[in-house]
Amino acid sequence: MVRTGPSGQYKDFNASELYCPRCKRAMPVRSRLLLVLPDGELHEYLCMRCASSLGTKTVRENRPRTIYMP
Ligand SMILES: [Zn+2]
Repeated sequence: MVRTGPSGQYKDFNASELYCPRCKRAMPVRSRLLLVLPDGELHEYLCMRCASSLGTKTVRENRPRTIYMP
């Protein structure tokens, strides 16, 4: 069975872009592990251009997509 994906450009990123107030536009981000919590991990998103902190994400085992904006 040949599985063909959708023709769109889907990428399996946790978060591809977030709005950066310093750059005044949505910027690609990289994540950094901040803390290991009893129920998951706290990651921080940093702007790839100016390294501002753009938000954090708590990664839990059953809810990996919770994003808290500052
Ligand atoms: Zn920036």
